Amino acid sequence: ETITVQELAEKLKKTAAEVIKKLMNLGVLATINQEIDFDTAALIAGEFGVEAELKVAVDKEALIMAEPEDDPAQLVPRPPVVTIMGHVDHGKTSLLDAIRQTNVTAGEAGGITQHIGAYQVEHNGKKITFVDTPGHAAFTAMRARGAQITDIAILVVAADDGVMPQTVEAINHAKAANVPIIVAINKMDKPEANPDKVKQELTQHELVVEDWGGDVIAVPVSAKTRMGLDNLLEMILLVAEVNELKANPNRRARGTVVEAELDKGRGPVATVLVQNGTLNVGDTIVVGHAYGRVRAMIDDKGRRVKKAGPSTPVEILGLSDVPEAGDILVVVEDEKLAREVAEKRQMRKREEILKATAKISLDDLFKHIQEGQIKELPIILKADVQGSIEALAQALEKLSTDEVKVNLIHSGVGAINETDIMLASASNAIVIGFNVRPDANARKIAEAEKIDIHLYRVIYEVIDDVKKAMSGLLDPEY
Ligand code: GDP
Repeated sequence: ETITVQELAEKLKKTAAEVIKKLMNLGVLATINQEIDFDTAALIAGEFGVEAELKVAVDKEALIMAEPEDDPAQLVPRPPVVTIMGHVDHGKTSLLDAIRQTNVTAGEAGGITQHIGAYQVEHNGKKITFVDTPGHAAFTAMRARGAQITDIAILVVAADDGVMPQTVEAINHAKAANVPIIVAINKMDKPEANPDKVKQELTQHELVVEDWGGDVIAVPVSAKTRMGLDNLLEMILLVAEVNELKANPNRRARGTVVEAELDKGRGPVATVLVQNGTLNVGDTIVVGHAYGRVRAMIDDKGRRVKKAGPSTPVEILGLSDVPEAGDILVVVEDEKLAREVAEKRQMRKREEILKATAKISLDDLFKHIQEGQIKELPIILKADVQGSIEALAQALEKLSTDEVKVNLIHSGVGAINETDIMLASASNAIVIGFNVRPDANARKIAEAEKIDIHLYRVIYEVIDDVKKAMSGLLDPEY
C-alpha cells in the first residue's frame, strides 16, 4: 500500500511542497511523484494533525470504486452510446424524436415512451443507446466530472443554415473528449438545403467528409420526412463496430447518472446508464453521495425491469438522496460500507465547496511546470470579433515549442459562457477573454469550478502572460 506525495498532499489538502518539507524533517528526501508507504504517510498526516481515520475512509472508498480487470473471454459487444450535438434549431430534438418514434412503431405496437434522459432503439437487430439530453452542455458537464459516457457524437448541421457558432463549439467539445463524430446534415427536405456548403464549411474545422477524401462520415437526413434515418443508424453501428465496444455483463454493475430528480411520490429518482456489468433489483449501490438498494428499475419504455446490462439506461428508485448527473454508480456487497462511504462523501462535498486548489491558474502554472506535470497548455479563447481571434490564435500557436505546446482547444466570438467554463474545467484549460467578459452564469460556475478567467484588452499582454506561463512549463535545464 503506497501513495504518491502528490496524492497525499491532495488528501491532506496541503501543497506538495508542504508535504515534501515535512518529509525532509523526517529525513526523507522525496519528489512529488515519489511513492511513500502507509506508515510514512500516516506519520505525515499526523504531523498535520489529521487522524488516520481519514486514510481508512479513503481506503474504503478506493475499495468500492476499484474496477476489477475484466477477463477478455467474458467481454461481449455492447451497444454504442450516442449523444446528439449541434447548433440551436438545427434539429437535435426533432432528430432524437424521429429516431425514437421510428423505433417504437417498429417495436412494441402503441408502446408508451417515457422521457428518462436516454433511450435505446434497435436497428437490424442491434441496439443503439441515445442520450437524449441534447446539447453539449450536458455532455461537457459530465466530462468535467470525469464521466465519459459517449462513444459517438452525432453532429447535427442544418443544410439550410450551415456551420454556426455552436456547431463549432460542439466539434471542439467532441474533439476534446476524443469522441468520433458522425455528421448528420439535417433538413434535407428544404428546397434551400445546400449540403455541399455544409461540407465545405466543415473542412475549415478539420472535418473532411468521405466523399471529399476525408474520413468523416456525413449522412444527409431529414427529421421531418425521416429520410436518411436508417442510413444514420447504419453508420452509427458501423462506427461502433470499428471501435469494438465491449463490456462484461457477468459482473457487478458500474454506471453513470444521466439525470436525477426528487420525485414527489417516488422520492429520489436517477436515470443511470449501465456501462459495465449488470444491475439488478435488490443490489446495494453507492451513487456519488447517495446510497441505497435498488427498489425498482424502469426502462425507457416505462416497463419495470429486473436487470439492466451494459449500455442500458434505466431509472432507479430506492436512493437515499438525489445524485448529480455524472456521478458514478457502483454496486457494493455490504450495505454498511455503502452508507459509510456515501456519508463520508457528503461531508467531503461540503468541505470541497470551500476548497480552492484543484484547477490550474496562470499563477499556479509555474509550480506545475517545476513539478514536471504539464507539457501542454490548453487554452479557451473568447473575443469580441473574429479578427482578434485569428490574430491571437496565430500568435499563440507560434509560441509552441518542442517542449510545451499551446493547445487552443476552443475559440469563439462572444461573451465567456457556461459551456466555455465547463470545457475549461473538463480539460484543465485556462480561459482567456479578449475585449469580452464572462456572463453572470459563467462567473458563478467559474467560481464553483475554480477556473481562472483572464481578461485582456491588448494582444501583446496576452502573449506576454502565456509566454511567462509556458517558460515555467519547460523542463528545468541542468
Ligand atoms: P434543436 O434546437 O436543435 O433541438 O432543434 P429542433 O429539433 O427544436 O428544431 C428546430 C426547428 O427546425 C423546429 O421548428 C423543427 O420543426 C425544425 N426542423 C427540425 N428538423 C427539420 C427537418 O428535417 N426539416 C424541416 N423542414 N424542419 C426541421
